[in-house]
Amino acid sequence: MQNQLFINGAWVAPAKGQMLPVIDPATEEVFHHIAAATEDDADAAVAAARAAFDTGPWPRLSGRERAVYLRAIAQGIRDRLPDLARIEVRDNGKPLPEAEWDLGDAAGCFDYYADLAEDLDDEVEDIALADGRFTAKALREPLGVAVAIVPWNYPLLMASWKVAPALAAGCTMILKPAETTSLTALELGEIAKAAGLPAGVLNILSGKGSVVGQRLIEHPGVDKVAFTGSGPVGSRIMAAGARDIKRVSLELGGKSPFVVFADSDIEKAVEWIMFGIFWNQGQVCSATSRVLVERALYPALLKRLVEEAGKIRIGNGLQDGTLLGPLVNQGQYEDVLRHIARAREQGATVVSGGKRPEGFDKGYYLEPTILTDVPLDSDAWVEEIFGPVVCLRPFDTEGEAIRLANDSRFGLAAAVMSADDARCDRVARAFRAGIVWINCSQPTFTQAPWGGYKQSGIGRELGRWGLDNYLETKQVTRLVSDQPWGWYLKG
Ligand code: NAD
Repeated sequence: MQNQLFINGAWVAPAKGQMLPVIDPATEEVFHHIAAATEDDADAAVAAARAAFDTGPWPRLSGRERAVYLRAIAQGIRDRLPDLARIEVRDNGKPLPEAEWDLGDAAGCFDYYADLAEDLDDEVEDIALADGRFTAKALREPLGVAVAIVPWNYPLLMASWKVAPALAAGCTMILKPAETTSLTALELGEIAKAAGLPAGVLNILSGKGSVVGQRLIEHPGVDKVAFTGSGPVGSRIMAAGARDIKRVSLELGGKSPFVVFADSDIEKAVEWIMFGIFWNQGQVCSATSRVLVERALYPALLKRLVEEAGKIRIGNGLQDGTLLGPLVNQGQYEDVLRHIARAREQGATVVSGGKRPEGFDKGYYLEPTILTDVPLDSDAWVEEIFGPVVCLRPFDTEGEAIRLANDSRFGLAAAVMSADDARCDRVARAFRAGIVWINCSQPTFTQAPWGGYKQSGIGRELGRWGLDNYLETKQVTRLVSDQPWGWYLKG
């Protein structure tokens, strides 16, 4: 496992020699140390990316040529998938099958953007002008040096959502993984090196957000910041980018609703509600953490949900059969426990979970937690908890469900379940959210746009929209007429 920084195609020690411990959330053991980059390292990485963009070959290669590197990176991830998945589990805590799933998706993301890079070569658009004396074309060009800042919940996958389209577009970049989970992002440097990526095209800096991250978002040599993380840091990035008009795309948090009508199959509802909030320990930006259930189904559904949540196997992510691993670190664990205590104080009932499971002395483990009677103005209903905690609430009419669902400052995702397709379509349109699931919750596809309304972010990742984040559009207009322009009369 790497413990240095990847700058200009080489592994280098951090300028100030600082290191950060890496803690396994299942055992609380320190099992590695990573480099903590500081301002000087950020400057060196930006200089490398700047040179690679301004004078290097990368942005000048055709999309087809860049695609070869992207496919080699995809293959590099696949070749090392079992070992990378185990690293991800030790770093993040998630169950091994979920880590394998993430890494397969990460490889697929590089392959997908390799295809889009190839398409870019043919993407010169002739523009039909109203004035026949001119012809015009629209060219799409890489926008420059991009910084990608990612969170800890899907470490390599969130990095891939940014690195793959940025490289496909022809940008050069600096990746800043979360300080808690940098290991697989650092391995990506090794994979990119083995793929022969030119020096300076991808630079990777582990280290604290408040130090190296802050320097990167303020750096005048950076053209674009792509961020996934919390709202407060998103605001800082917008503010820092305002000074020199950096391009900014933000994927932030959510408090997503799941509306379940009484004509739903109760077992399917239980399955998707549980997946929607308990996979990845609920540390999912799109988690459907507010479940609204039509009153006729509410008591039976609550009963089944409590029964099934109680059966979820909790344990070390590396153990066979584990469905719920530990939360990512001590800070997050204490934060979620604080949220549960506050929910109780504010009137909610904890009908299931809410505490450390029996038999676990070490590790940041928490039982899957179901809250009811949650007041609409309480923190548990309004704030993102980012843990395995779901709020359940009955509703009486479709209108009430839509109103409650949309009554949030967030708008990342929403889900609806009903046997009535027309109703599902109606509710899907009424949701003020960037991602809507019908009869399910959470499945995510590289080809489809991902991002939020309202305070859940700006811009879209994935699909062709993800590539747009890293491209500028250039108009090229040609005069094809011999007629004088006639602005002034000669002689
Ligand atoms: P965070 O905002 O604390 O950290 C995210 C990243 O920002 C980390 O790499 C961190 O080091 C860096 N950072 C922190 N301060 C910085 C600064 N001043 N300047 C530059 N970088 C800085 O978020 P987190 O706790 O790692 O992640 C959880 C949050 O991410 C949740 O709110 C969640 O909803 C959100 N999230 C959103 C999506 C999405 O697609 N919308 C996906 C995953 C997570």
